[in-house]
Amino acid sequence: MTTIFRAVRVFDGERFLDGPHDVIFDGGAITQVSPTGGTVAAPDATVVDAIGKTLTPGFIDCHIHAPFSGAALLEQVMQPFSYQFFESVRNMATDLALGITTARDAGGGDAGLKQAIAAGLIAGPRLKISVNIMSQTGGHNDSLCLSGVDTNVSHPGKPSGVADGPEECRKKARELFRAGADQIKICTTGGVLSPADSPEHSQFTVAEIRAIVEEAEAHGSYVLAHAQGTAGIKNALNAGVRSIEHGIFLDDEAIQLLLDKDAYLVPTLIAPLWVIRLADSGHHIPQLMVDKAKRVADTHRDAFARAVRAGVKVAMGTDTGVGPHGTNLEELYLMYDGGLTLEGVLKATTATAAELVAPGEKLGRLTPGYLADAVLLDCELTDGAQLKDISSHIAAVYQGGKQVG
Ligand SMILES: [Zn+2]
Repeated sequence: MTTIFRAVRVFDGERFLDGPHDVIFDGGAITQVSPTGGTVAAPDATVVDAIGKTLTPGFIDCHIHAPFSGAALLEQVMQPFSYQFFESVRNMATDLALGITTARDAGGGDAGLKQAIAAGLIAGPRLKISVNIMSQTGGHNDSLCLSGVDTNVSHPGKPSGVADGPEECRKKARELFRAGADQIKICTTGGVLSPADSPEHSQFTVAEIRAIVEEAEAHGSYVLAHAQGTAGIKNALNAGVRSIEHGIFLDDEAIQLLLDKDAYLVPTLIAPLWVIRLADSGHHIPQLMVDKAKRVADTHRDAFARAVRAGVKVAMGTDTGVGPHGTNLEELYLMYDGGLTLEGVLKATTATAAELVAPGEKLGRLTPGYLADAVLLDCELTDGAQLKDISSHIAAVYQGGKQVG
């Protein structure tokens, strides 16, 4: 199956190419990207007249939670156990329709979900799963509430992520890899949506984090850390964590560490905004969590702007699941508003995100030899302000050369 896009504006993962280009997808890969004129299409090729349109690599969301559709805890607790799996099916189709052709699940999505997508049983982004989130006892992902109710129910596909001490941490990382994890997600600080801690609190000792990083590296993988407070961010980076999620209280030293360690920042600027929005629209979110979200939202934006100015590598991630799937692309304008250029935002959402979540997998670029994952926009994207309603400009989505949306 061959598709040829005629005279399209191309963002190749790094930058916009000068002038209109012809792009050819053949057999699931990109075979040609060249200035318009003289490209010969096979007689059976599908020709897309793309004058006035923009083609980008498929978008990559480096931080989603597939089964969740909003942070309304009580609603989740009252749902039947299997409902989360059906929600995942809907959520994955919703993300894909936005042009998200690859996603890293930061806790929740299991191997069955990943396999169902890979086998074509259901539609969704190519998934990199973390299975469950590692946390110390009483930490951000220890969901045992004072009532005695545990809101993070483990099941055969999703072992509990709670562990303490280097040896238990090592074993837990091994269990998660056994359950199919592509990478390990840990919490090195408290957070907004946990009852017994604050974003500033450090969690896991450096020795515990090191043990997990060692296990991940032995497995040919890496660790991402939910890290909001300054000390917990530094602990994670010093122990070898590859991506800092949220990064709310970044001071100059933490920003320098991100640079020195060549680590990534996945800002999820939209996440605290969703906690506030859901509460405002009448969903039951404990007041304590709403207060924390309000308290950190401005600090978060400021930290992101400073990291951008310092040249930290940013990969797009949304924490969708805190807010509903389908709103992921709001993050793009927030990143632009926070100081990234239009090309910077698109690079964070394609090439840089791919380098983080799928190194060596030929994703995230519109370059011959790369997989034909792409988004066709119905406009010439020339101004960052257009990112505000980018989701209404998705004309078509391609995954492995096939139109899927
Ligand atoms: Zn998250």
